[in-house]
Amino acid sequence: MKIVYSDKHAAHDPKTFFVRGVNRPAAEQPERADRLLAAAKAARHEVVTPRPYGTAPAAAIHTPEYLDFLSTIARDWAQLPGASAEVLPNVHPARYAATYPKALAGRAGWHQADLACPIGPGTWQAALAASEVATTAADLVLEGARWAYALCRPPGHHAYADMAGGFCYLNNTAIAAQRLRTRHGRVAILDVDVHHGNGTQGIFWERADVLTVSIHADPANYYPYFWGHAHETGAGAGAGFNLNLPQPMGSPDVPWLAAGDAALARIREFAPTALVVALGLDASESDPLQGLKVTGAGFRAMAQKVASLSLPTVLVQEGGYLSDDLGRNLVQFLDGFEKGRP
Ligand SMILES: [Zn+2]
Repeated sequence: MKIVYSDKHAAHDPKTFFVRGVNRPAAEQPERADRLLAAAKAARHEVVTPRPYGTAPAAAIHTPEYLDFLSTIARDWAQLPGASAEVLPNVHPARYAATYPKALAGRAGWHQADLACPIGPGTWQAALAASEVATTAADLVLEGARWAYALCRPPGHHAYADMAGGFCYLNNTAIAAQRLRTRHGRVAILDVDVHHGNGTQGIFWERADVLTVSIHADPANYYPYFWGHAHETGAGAGAGFNLNLPQPMGSPDVPWLAAGDAALARIREFAPTALVVALGLDASESDPLQGLKVTGAGFRAMAQKVASLSLPTVLVQEGGYLSDDLGRNLVQFLDGFEKGRP
């Protein structure tokens, strides 16, 4: 399989990650991508470099004011007297009607959903490179490859059209799906990350041309809390085109794979001509975030199921944090996908 990878991800090295009010070392570290790349190389997948697209693919998903914010805030923030090394909001417009602010602290609160998306001096460069990685993988598939894997870092599925959150800045999965839409009338997204793909859901919420399906730990007691519940099914033209399959915390392979069957049934009914898999590996039993208990064999079995759809497919890396199984689980998924293809 072709693996698209850029070493520009390393410019983003966040230091802030609050857990129960305590600032802990960030889970979303550059070493994640190093380990995923090493494992893919060892399994003899072919590594290719992304093409330069600039901001155009990201601008097909994200708003101009948000892209302006992401690309300038670190530089401007550094000029504030006594400013922190990373941009972090200390105020939010929350749930009430609000006016877009000019002040940097206000803009940070508008565009950063939580404290898990700090913006440092290299964040924009890394996020933009990840969007180019996803776009290149989508173009490889548009050009005739049956599948391609985008080794994106930072991840993207918690990012909305105008808001970062949960380690995510640009929604690489949505960018890949939108790219596929240039030649495919209907595109499905299957998100198997342990966290609900709330940004992706939000981006396509009122659209019927992109089906969004997410299997994740129940947000009743897990990030992102406010989204990912089963009753969220889309609105307007998109009503019925979002499916959430929350799983009880700690669920092992069997129910996770049964949710995979339910997801695939909905995808088959939708009859897309291309697929994007938001490939989080943090549902692993070994993942430090401990939401679900999926084994390497479980990832392999899920990949085989997804491959049975026999669709042109872009795999986009989402979450998955440092453990001895991180690289192994990626290889299990990629290998299961290739071998499961009819
Ligand atoms: Zn995740």
